[in-house]
Amino acid sequence: MSTRLPQLINGEFAQSATDTWIPVTNPATQEVLCEAPAATGEEMEQAIAAAKAAFEEWREVPVTERARLMMRYQALLKERHDDIAKVLAKETGKTFEDAKGDVWRGIEVVEQAANIPSLMMGETVENVARSIDTHSWIQPLGVCAGITPFNFPAMIPLWMFPMAIASGNTFVLKPSEQDPMTPNLLAELFLEAGAPKNVLQVVHGGKQQVDTLLTHPEIKAVSFVGSVPVGQHVYRTATEHLKRAQCFAGAKNHMVIMPDAQKSQVVGNLVGSSCGAAGQRCMAISVAVFVGDSKQWIDDIKEEFAKVRPGAWDDAGAAYGPQISPKARERILTLIKQGKEEGATCLLDGSGCTVDGLPDGNWVGPTLFTDVKPEMSIYNEEIFGPVLCCVCVDTLEEAIELVNNSPYGNGTSIFTASGAAARKYQHEVEVGQVGINIPIPVPLPFFSFTGWKGSFYGDQHAYGKQAVRFYTETKTVTSRWFDDDIADATHSGPNMTIHLK
Ligand code: NAD
Repeated sequence: MSTRLPQLINGEFAQSATDTWIPVTNPATQEVLCEAPAATGEEMEQAIAAAKAAFEEWREVPVTERARLMMRYQALLKERHDDIAKVLAKETGKTFEDAKGDVWRGIEVVEQAANIPSLMMGETVENVARSIDTHSWIQPLGVCAGITPFNFPAMIPLWMFPMAIASGNTFVLKPSEQDPMTPNLLAELFLEAGAPKNVLQVVHGGKQQVDTLLTHPEIKAVSFVGSVPVGQHVYRTATEHLKRAQCFAGAKNHMVIMPDAQKSQVVGNLVGSSCGAAGQRCMAISVAVFVGDSKQWIDDIKEEFAKVRPGAWDDAGAAYGPQISPKARERILTLIKQGKEEGATCLLDGSGCTVDGLPDGNWVGPTLFTDVKPEMSIYNEEIFGPVLCCVCVDTLEEAIELVNNSPYGNGTSIFTASGAAARKYQHEVEVGQVGINIPIPVPLPFFSFTGWKGSFYGDQHAYGKQAVRFYTETKTVTSRWFDDDIADATHSGPNMTIHLK
């Protein structure tokens, strides 16, 4: 029997009492790596109650001590970086290099969380009226919850719980049931770094466990990352239950290629940004928009695509790994078939891809479509696979219109040698993260991750200053102190305006 993954509840990693166990498989082989529990209702209650009880103490811990916890955690994550990446690579199928990147991007957020004293600074205005001062503080909310997707099992949990906990909250994490081993390891290391008991809980499962978090009165804020339909469900349910919510959802990211761009940069970056991580990135480029004569480069792109091959996580020559599940692979193959039926030209078809020695892996080879039109399913739907759709337009204005008509707004980029074209694009495009000659413009954590439109529901974004705003409430204090002389002079009533001259 395979190993059963424990949950972190009430300060202990313990086995669930559930009858429902979800197999976690190696997507390159279908070998069952472990089973994750679907937490029972009682376990969910215990986790939330323990987090609530811990909040009363944790909120009183000085901000400098909270910062030091994050410094120790950051050091430990760095020390164990490769071990975490190995676990991550096995359960996601990502190449080792890519898995290390996943861990590293998470560590950068922990570094940011270690800056919490300056991030929590409030504001002060002296003499808002005569002898009256106002200051504002930000204070933690209580128990916050995080629901994370399969595609970044280190980075995305680390977007959430370090920022929330450093801000003085306690946290219940419900990771993806498809790769829960990495989040469990992150939680183990958090305890090893000295996190107080119950500041973090980790429960496992799917919809039922998520719905408990969304409706439970003790959960004050919900952070979600995942697909559009689930993101909409999470946002609607959480806000209907009067919680704060930030929901990062699906995407369809366009790269606009101007004829004056550097061809070798365009070709190399398009391959990496569309096929990397098997296309399973919310910031992957899935549409290339060729403006004017740049369409001549499509043949060169096809040549580069044809050189790329997937493989196992420890195959140093593999450009990317398998899709996360047979179901995800089937969905991608159906979309490729639909693309052909709807009239797009398939220059390279990865549907029949195999990898030597790994006949059961969820492989999809690099796939390139041209003559793609906005009404086609391959243009409209998030494919989340190594599939690039090429669209040709005549002008930059047309390209901007196309991108702005997309319901998604996570990321986009423009490749050009013209400052004027880049300036126009960054100003007019309705997308939250823009790269100029950078294909995947994910901001470092001193900024925030700022998807727009159908790629994000909420207002405050992930990490950086916005995460601290999301995980805190502002309290504004107006104060006046009397000494005998002032008290005699003013005789004020409740309306402070009587002091204004
Ligand atoms: P998913 O929506 O299937 O699952 C995300 C989480 O929601 C998981 O923890 C899962 O257990 C839970 N869940 C699944 N179905 C549910 C339901 N019906 N009700 C309640 N909870 C449910 O997403 P995924 O396949 O794990 O991840 C891939 C998706 O995530 C892609 O669409 C990708 O674009 C998106 N994503 C977005 C960002 C971003 O920042 N915008 C980042 C990473 C991934």
